[in-house]
Amino acid sequence: MKKEKVVVIGAGLCGLYTAFLLQKKGIEVLILEGNTRIGGRIKTITGTTAVTMEMGATWFGNQHQHLLEVLHTLELPYFRQHTKGISLFETMSFVPPQKFEISDSEEPSFRIEGGTAALIDKLSIEIGIQNIKTSTKITAIKEENNQLILVDSNGNSYSADKVISTIPPNLLVNSVVFEPNLTENFTQLAKKTHTWMGESIKFAVEYKTPFWKQNNYSGTLFSQASIVQEMYDHSTADNSGFALKGFLNGGTAVLSLEERKEKVIAQLTTFFGSEATNYVGYYENVWRQEPLTFQPYEQLVLAHQNNGHSIFKTPFLNEKLYVSGAETATQNPGYMDGAIFAAKTIASQF
Ligand SMILES: Cc1cc2nc3c(=O)[nH]c(=O)nc-3n(C[C@H](O)[C@H](O)[C@H](O)COP(=O)(O)OP(=O)(O)OC[C@H]3O[C@@H](n4cnc5c(N)ncnc54)[C@H](O)[C@@H]3O)c2cc1C
Repeated sequence: MKKEKVVVIGAGLCGLYTAFLLQKKGIEVLILEGNTRIGGRIKTITGTTAVTMEMGATWFGNQHQHLLEVLHTLELPYFRQHTKGISLFETMSFVPPQKFEISDSEEPSFRIEGGTAALIDKLSIEIGIQNIKTSTKITAIKEENNQLILVDSNGNSYSADKVISTIPPNLLVNSVVFEPNLTENFTQLAKKTHTWMGESIKFAVEYKTPFWKQNNYSGTLFSQASIVQEMYDHSTADNSGFALKGFLNGGTAVLSLEERKEKVIAQLTTFFGSEATNYVGYYENVWRQEPLTFQPYEQLVLAHQNNGHSIFKTPFLNEKLYVSGAETATQNPGYMDGAIFAAKTIASQF
């Protein structure tokens, strides 16, 4: 009997875990990834002092059982987010931030030791790097002779018996041409499906010493008035590398990196003192400028809107095209846990 050939589009967490599960079933899988790197919305960078910093997915909790199960299977250790010490909440720019402490009894959030990319690296090794083709952006999918033909931006084509797309739905219908067209119902729904964190700006500031912790600050900060809206201590699990990391106000995407950096350092200096100016490096990722993640919506789409919608359950093109990815999951959609759940859902149909 001829072996079924399956192509997975996207080497983010969902694509990689789907391939991992299908291989376990003895199915041959090829992953086609548009970017030069793998990981998608998981992007761990390393600073000059060897601290790892997350420009994408970072935290998970005890409610993320599918992800926790994968971490245990792959023997990837994780650790609790540091929150001890004084945390800050700025409500207005003209009054000093309120101080508060996060209780140890609060539900913890965790980070993967060595960075979230450790999960991507481990899965890639399990799958076999030879089965992942990067710099292969799919622009068209045609149904031909009971097969699907995928065409990439360099004009190369690939044939498959079945295709699993893990491209976020809004991006999928705005960047890939289908022949025959997908149903109008699906296309309209996908255009109104939110891509989690697609509009966000992540930043990290690397330091030689954790001066905030030495001064009894946790590093946790919330602000409704300044550029840094949310921030946490980002020291490594073994406390050998130090950084502060969080989210910037999305509206500052119109500013230059230099302008944002200046405002971030000024805010940190106001809150934590002059030691904040002695940074080793400033890093950021403006996700709305990542064409393989984000595509502007045609109309207002709210956070998580249409995530996990039942329309994603049915395969298209005579049951040869499956639409997957974190946004299609019916459990914790948009999150890493959702990406894992979506992979399990599709793999169970093979
Ligand atoms: C800033 C930020 C912070 C986040 N924080 C958290 C967090 O703390 N906790 C949490 O659980 N989740 C978080 N998330 C969400 C988490 O990153 C996602 O749920 C998860 O990584 C999605 O995986 P995925 O494989 O479904 O999609 P993606 O990671 O988006 O993977 C899709 C892949 O498809 C590729 N692709 C796109 N178009 C094409 C094409 N035409 N051809 C070929 N390849 C293509 C992309 O390059 C990408 O690699 C965060 C996301 C961001 C951006």
